[in-house]
Amino acid sequence: MKILIIGAGIGGASAGIALRRLGHEVEIYEQVTENRPVGAAISVWPNGVKVLNWLGLGAQTAALGGRVEFMSYREAATGETMCRFSLAPVTEQMGQRPYPIARAELQAMLMEAFGVQDIRFGKRMSAIEQDEHSVTVTFADGTTATGDALIAADGAKSLARAYVVGEELERRYAGYVNVNGLVRADPEVAPTDQWTLWVGAGKRVSVMPVGGDRFYFFFDVVEPAGLRPERGAVRESLAAHFAGWAPEVHRLISLMDPETTNRVEIFDLDPFHTWVKGRVALLGDAAHNTTPDIGQGGCSALEDTVVLERAFATTTISVPDTLARYAAARSRRAGDLVLWARRRAALMHGEDPELTEAWYEELRGEDGTNVLRGIIGNMVDNPLG
Ligand SMILES: Cc1cc2nc3c(=O)[nH]c(=O)nc-3n(C[C@H](O)[C@H](O)[C@H](O)COP(=O)(O)OP(=O)(O)OC[C@H]3O[C@@H](n4cnc5c(N)ncnc54)[C@H](O)[C@@H]3O)c2cc1C
Repeated sequence: MKILIIGAGIGGASAGIALRRLGHEVEIYEQVTENRPVGAAISVWPNGVKVLNWLGLGAQTAALGGRVEFMSYREAATGETMCRFSLAPVTEQMGQRPYPIARAELQAMLMEAFGVQDIRFGKRMSAIEQDEHSVTVTFADGTTATGDALIAADGAKSLARAYVVGEELERRYAGYVNVNGLVRADPEVAPTDQWTLWVGAGKRVSVMPVGGDRFYFFFDVVEPAGLRPERGAVRESLAAHFAGWAPEVHRLISLMDPETTNRVEIFDLDPFHTWVKGRVALLGDAAHNTTPDIGQGGCSALEDTVVLERAFATTTISVPDTLARYAAARSRRAGDLVLWARRRAALMHGEDPELTEAWYEELRGEDGTNVLRGIIGNMVDNPLG
C-alpha cells in the first residue's frame, strides 16, 4: 500500500517509521526546507518514551534525554522551596523514566530513523481530493502525489482539518505566552537534576535538564494575543514581567540568548471526534491541539502513531475502515488530555485568582503525592500500558 504523510513533525515522522516497517511504501511531504522546529525542548513523559522505545529508538532517546530525578516548586519572590520530591514513582509506576529532550534533536532523530533523504522538503500541501480508489494531494508548487491513504500530520494550524471535518474550527487563545529556550545548566539557578518551577501571580518560570548539560527553560506570561515585541528585547521584557522575583529567576534571564529564545502564543482547540474522511486521517496536533500545561501534546501524537500502526497491522477490510478504527480508538483519550491541560492552564495562569492562590497554598503543604498522582494520571490510559 502507498501511504502519503503530510508533515515531518513528531507525529508525521513517527508515523512514517511505524508504517514503513509494516512494509508499506511511505512518502513524507514537509513544507519547510530544513529541520527547524519551533520551541526549544519538550518533556517526553514515559507514555511518549515508550513509543520511541517501541519504534527502536530507546538508546538514542536515552542519550539525548535529560536526567530529571526531582521536582520542586518555589515561591516567586523569595525562591524558598514550597515542596520538593522524587520523581522515581513516575518511573516505577510507568516502567520507564521521562526524558526532557531538545526539540531539534528529537526531530532530527525521528527524521534520520525514517531517512532524511526520503522526506520531500519544500512541499506545501494546498489541496486534497479523493475517490473510491485513491487520494491525491496537490502542492503549492503545482505538483501532485497520489496514494491509497493520506495521514495529515500538518500540525496545530492544519489545512487538512477543515477538509476532514467539513468546516474551519477556530482555535482558542489560552491567555498566555510561553517564552522558551536552552541555556547551559547552572546550579546557581537550580539543581541540575531537578525540574524546578517558580510560581506566583498566575505566572510560571521553569527549568529542567536536557542532555548536553543544558537547561530547557520557559516563562509563562499572561498577556493578550497579537503583541509583537522585538525579538532582541526579550530579556528586558521578562525582567519587567518578573520584577521582584527570586534572584535565581533573574540569573536565568541574564543567561538566556535573546536570539535563540522563542516566544509562542498558546492556543488550543475544543476536542472534536471527526478525524477521518474516507482515505484521509488526521494525526497529532492536527487532530488534538492542546496547551502544553501537562506536557502531553507530543506524547499524544506518539500515542496516535502506535494506534495507527496497530490498525494497519491488524485490519484488512479497507483503508477507510482501518482509519476509522484508529480514530475511534484514539479520539476520546486525546480529547480528554486537551481538556485536562486546559483546566491546568486556567489554574496555573490565574483565570480565577482565588483558585490559583489556593493551589499555591496546597503546594506549600505538598509531599509530592498529589502532583505525582496528576502526572501519572495523565498516562494511565496510554495504548502501551
Ligand atoms: C510551548 C510548547 C511547549 C510544549 N511542550 C510539550 C511537552 O513538554 N511535551 C509534549 O509532549 N508536548 C509539548 N508540546 C506540544 C508538542 O510540541 C506538539 O504536540 C507536537 O509538536 C505535535 O507534533 P505534530 O507532528 O502533530 O505537529 P508539528 O510538530 O507542528 O508538525 C507539523 C508539521 O507539518 C508541517 N506542515 C504544516 N502544514 C503543512 C502543509 N500544508 N504542507 C506540508 N507540511 C505542512 C509543518 O511544517 C510541521 O513540520 C508543547 C507545545 C508548545 C507550543
